[in-house]
Amino acid sequence: MLIDAANSPNQRLMLEFPNNISVFIKREDLLHPQISGNKFRKLKYNLHAARQMDYNTLLTFGGAYSNHIAAVAAAGDEFGFNTIGIIRGEELVDKINDNPTLKLAQQQGMQLVFISRADYRSKSQADFIQKLNNQFGEFYLIPEGGTNALAVEGCREILTAQDKQQFDYVCCAVGTGGTIAGIIESSTDQQTILGFPALKGDFLQAQIQQWTNKTNWQLIPDYHGGGYARTTPALLQFVQDFKAQTGIEIEPIYTGKMLFGLFDLIHKHYFPANSQILVIHTGGLQGNLSSRFNSVI
Ligand SMILES: *Cc1c(COP(=O)(O)O)cnc(C)c1O
Repeated sequence: MLIDAANSPNQRLMLEFPNNISVFIKREDLLHPQISGNKFRKLKYNLHAARQMDYNTLLTFGGAYSNHIAAVAAAGDEFGFNTIGIIRGEELVDKINDNPTLKLAQQQGMQLVFISRADYRSKSQADFIQKLNNQFGEFYLIPEGGTNALAVEGCREILTAQDKQQFDYVCCAVGTGGTIAGIIESSTDQQTILGFPALKGDFLQAQIQQWTNKTNWQLIPDYHGGGYARTTPALLQFVQDFKAQTGIEIEPIYTGKMLFGLFDLIHKHYFPANSQILVIHTGGLQGNLSSRFNSVI
């Protein structure tokens, strides 16, 4: 499976920033038409491992709008794996056709299995996995959100040699923290990596520290907008304005929150003059198809 860096160019944002600050955006959303952004990076070495160990089936977990579910379904379709998606929420079982993420995943051959929120919480426990094995046979398990050691390995490839020379700061949205961990691991000590959590919670710091001993990074916890998949009118307006001004589509769950936070920090003079900042567009635009945001984006 090839990832062509030419599909993920850096583009300079032609917007006015104070203090001669420049901001470039790495278009990971363009890496692959269906396996978007960081999810492609996270799957790459997992798919190699699954193939090497002769697994035919990938099994993973996610919510109804999950970019990870969408990516695994598309990757299975493209690279010849059966896929099983364990989806949070039993009530969704007869709503597949109303949900663009689930509908497309099913069309790409993913078997969707809906479980209660209570069962979903036990998804990492050995006896729950054993039950899934009894039900579905052997599978290669990919955790919710796709983060494991091989995913972090794949995300080490996001920054190019040139990026490590050029940029003082690299900014990235944080969900489970796997993507930023790979970026931190591959960064130089002269660079500072800033993570913008898309959700509330103090656990993320420790979660990222599982994957890296480096200290040239920091989480900026002020821009989650009320929690995971929560939005504010100001955030939705920002996402719309960003597209109008740059021509680049973003979504309000991850990249939108990160850029909203970054621009606020720039205007509050958080960064020294002449800073060169790289932001990662982690993709996930399939989520914009859902009716949750149709009205606004
Ligand atoms: C999943 C996702 C993230 C979060 O990545 P983590 O590795 O879980 O931190 C960021 N942006 C988008 C668009 C995503 O789909």
